[in-house]
Amino acid sequence: MNPLVLIVEDENALVEVLKYNLEKEGFRTEIAIDGEEALLALDERSPDLVILDWMLPHVSGLEICRQMRRRKETRGIPIVMLTARGEEDDRVRGLESGADDYVTKPFSPTELVARVRAVLRRSSPTLVEEVLRYGGVEMDLTIHRVTRDGRQIRLGPTEFRLLRVLMERPRRVYSREQLLDMAWGTDKEVEPRTVDVHIRRLRKALNGPDDPELIRTVRSVGYAIDATDA
Ligand code: CA
Repeated sequence: MNPLVLIVEDENALVEVLKYNLEKEGFRTEIAIDGEEALLALDERSPDLVILDWMLPHVSGLEICRQMRRRKETRGIPIVMLTARGEEDDRVRGLESGADDYVTKPFSPTELVARVRAVLRRSSPTLVEEVLRYGGVEMDLTIHRVTRDGRQIRLGPTEFRLLRVLMERPRRVYSREQLLDMAWGTDKEVEPRTVDVHIRRLRKALNGPDDPELIRTVRSVGYAIDATDA
């Protein structure tokens, strides 16, 4: 199961950006727009990490942070605080109150996701395995590098996402529609046949002259990565 990140932020636009970028990187997300919702979500969903805005209506981020550290159930959950530029005192107080890291607004989503990973890597290393391995193929998700038996494979962004979906659950068969959802995102109108085109490209890139075929076509169903017969 992918790590669940609870986003506690009242600014809708920022929530959307965070949600989009985290989900793109394979995290699951839950949203709380104020302190009360946050405390509720903490009880109900037990997230793996909390992104906590300092300035929230009703209950402040700092107060949530303190409450989380006081309670046995939430004490161990890592917190990344969001603070506004210049609030140096807030950072210090945030760290003192038990936040694991803080990010100053405005920030790049990429940087924030990197911080989230870094904090999770310290708290629960198995949650953020960043290299997928199967059938001689290695995918390093951090630096976007793919190799097969040590040979470097160059992939376009779509082929990379396709391979990632397949590599996350080896031998599981996905329909074209599922692959479209997972590798293209749901908001685009793409023909299921497009999947075939990109699978072809992916195979071409993956397979050297003597390599066995790794991507199995399952007639009238879809595709899987499967080294069983290889
Ligand atoms: Ca805010």
